[in-house]
Amino acid sequence: MLLGALLSLLLSAAPAPACDGAQLTPVHVVGVGDAAPLAADLEVAAQGLYEEVSTVTGADDCAPIRVDLTTDLKLARRVLPAWHVPPWAAGAAQADRRSILLTVHTDGHRHDRVQVLTHELAHLSIAQAAGGHPVPRWFNEGVARTIAGEHSVEDAEVLARAKIASRLFPLEGLESSFPAGDGDAAIAYAVSGRAISLLMQEHGRGAIADVLAGVRDGVPFDQALHAATSWRTFQLDAQVKRSVGTAAAWMTVFAQADLGMLLAGVLSAIAAVLVFRRRRRELSDMPDDVAPRPAFDVRIVRLPSVGLSRG
Ligand SMILES: [Zn+2]
Repeated sequence: MLLGALLSLLLSAAPAPACDGAQLTPVHVVGVGDAAPLAADLEVAAQGLYEEVSTVTGADDCAPIRVDLTTDLKLARRVLPAWHVPPWAAGAAQADRRSILLTVHTDGHRHDRVQVLTHELAHLSIAQAAGGHPVPRWFNEGVARTIAGEHSVEDAEVLARAKIASRLFPLEGLESSFPAGDGDAAIAYAVSGRAISLLMQEHGRGAIADVLAGVRDGVPFDQALHAATSWRTFQLDAQVKRSVGTAAAWMTVFAQADLGMLLAGVLSAIAAVLVFRRRRRELSDMPDDVAPRPAFDVRIVRLPSVGLSRG
């Protein structure tokens, strides 16, 4: 469910040299076990990705990055130093080591490896742009999620349900950590993504780099945010809350429910027609001296129509 749910273990980043000219940050992908054949393709796709995300964060370094690719999180423990991440995570990053872990599967679901890699590269880039100073977890995750294109329809649905359940977490509560549970973590990511999305809409993409440049210069995060956007964290939080209206949230939830019922109804109708046609063929193929069994088959044909009427 949590296609876009990711964890990053973010430590302070060591200063890295700036790139000269068109030099790209080397990204080496190492495949572990059965994931080994996939490493070469991912390494090709990774070239230039760090520079792309850095156009948003303002980072200008090009120290090498290592990516360990495993089939799943169990194999991640074979990578040294071992990674320990929640079962719902698809990737993780350690900024001080310029190191990333990616999995091919999460909870049995295959995900978009380039998208997850983009998210984790964004974390490394944010750490560099901030000069190793810490930034709030919601800002870090929100920027990574937005850059990777993960803040989309799925997040809007999560926000709608959270609004109705009165579980839209305040940004101030997501300063240093996210909830561990799958569902609550999804809300935290969605709230963070919405905050960054609103910042970019109102103040442009350059606002992210401006905030990070302030943090790099030693300005406390909330002041850096205010200097770049005229908003403080509590004001941005109010914008997030306002962006998820109660009526719109209910409409989103109802729309999902209606779509599900409509789909179930269409499938039931198709099944009913197929059953009816098959039985009609069977009856017409029967010899005249064999009596049909209508009662049982009639019930089968009518059952799905109950589902249709419920919608
Ligand atoms: Zn992340």
